[in-house]
Amino acid sequence: EHGQFLRRTRRSAELARQAAEVLPRGVEHVDPMSYPYPLFMRGGRGSRVTDVDGNEYVDCILAGGALSLGHNDPELNGALAALVDERTNFHGYMDEFEVLAARRIAQTFPSVEAVRFTSSGAEADLAAMRMARAYTGRSKVIKFRGAYHGWGDQFMTDLEVPGSGTVLAGGVPPQFLSATVLVHQNDLDELERALVAAEPDGGVAAVICEPLGAESGLVPFDEDFHAQAIELAHRYGALYVFDEVVTGVRAARGGAQTRFGVTPDLTTLGKGLMNGYPSCGAVGGRREIIDTAHIGVPDERPTTYIGGTLSGNVLSAAAAYHTLGIITRDGVFEHAEAAAADLVRRLNDLFGTRGFDFFAYHFGTVVRIELTAPHALPLRGPDDFAEVLRRREILSRYMLPVQNAGVLSRMGRDMLCAAHTAADNDKVVTAYDRLLDLLV
Ligand code: PMP
Repeated sequence: EHGQFLRRTRRSAELARQAAEVLPRGVEHVDPMSYPYPLFMRGGRGSRVTDVDGNEYVDCILAGGALSLGHNDPELNGALAALVDERTNFHGYMDEFEVLAARRIAQTFPSVEAVRFTSSGAEADLAAMRMARAYTGRSKVIKFRGAYHGWGDQFMTDLEVPGSGTVLAGGVPPQFLSATVLVHQNDLDELERALVAAEPDGGVAAVICEPLGAESGLVPFDEDFHAQAIELAHRYGALYVFDEVVTGVRAARGGAQTRFGVTPDLTTLGKGLMNGYPSCGAVGGRREIIDTAHIGVPDERPTTYIGGTLSGNVLSAAAAYHTLGIITRDGVFEHAEAAAADLVRRLNDLFGTRGFDFFAYHFGTVVRIELTAPHALPLRGPDDFAEVLRRREILSRYMLPVQNAGVLSRMGRDMLCAAHTAADNDKVVTAYDRLLDLLV
């Protein structure tokens, strides 16, 4: 498999050699995808991408899940191309698309009344924490172990190199880390203890979660957890924040909050909101909390500062407006979700037929493959996230054969898009079948 990869990807190998001279380890992102070197891509259309050596792949990674419509959606691209010729950035002044996009976000996500745009998902999470602190006048935040909320200092408390146990907090002042309290998912008692324990320090400003579970569903939340956790947070004066950077356009039409039928105080968005276009991030929620970003007007309400030259620029705002318009159109999300359900069914059939104790499941268009039998789900013990990462690491070693079979997969953490076809699923199932050959 290794030799086949090397033969098929000579141009990528050459570009990777050049990249290593000017980029740390020759990449922007540490992932199994960059082993033994990253593929360099040349083009993409719908669910398919082509690398610089001319190999074609079904893309089940989709830019970390950002391309919910697929690559180069013609309607979205057409709308943006028309704008590029006309406007660039009026930072400091306004463009109508900011209003259109914010209104559409509010219409799509039930808890959102008002919106502040940011330039990435990580910034949206930072903005949400700052607004929550300004609004409540408190400083501590609670985060669930294993959850990813971007690379902000305060979220690095437990961020690991996958499977290695190495915490990635180099360069982060310890006092930033100590402002974040870690709790385990699905443990309401522990959450309450953490809320109580923070009282002498002035209490907790916000509890932030990935609503489907850490790393978007690798360890799922119990169905009724959020409703109870929101009540608990409010009882102790804390806000509850849904990080819907991944789930916003993937968990359901209307995000995880629609799926679970709950109302978080703040919602952060990114990635799929603009179908992969920059500068993608937004925080939405109750108007009085979002209004804390309204610094400079003298009044008695709490205020803070959140800025960004590119945040909400006309092209990004238009990308959000059109992407949400397309993905919420009748049948579009449903098509992608049905493709995910079909893939999961076929993979589970395959694992069963071949006698493997694997298990695939999906939340909307997020597909997860677990190396355990269904009855083992949900994993919810204290060490489960580490265990999940360990298993994932093992599966990652088999990325090359899947890639050689024409499928880009983060191995068990797949994403589907609205352009996904039945023929794509055939290819994915064939690739996993080939992977199983190597495991016997
Ligand atoms: N939150 C979650 C749940 C994410 O998955 C990510 C990105 N993987 C982020 C925040 C950060 O978003 P960005 O990469 O756009 O900064």
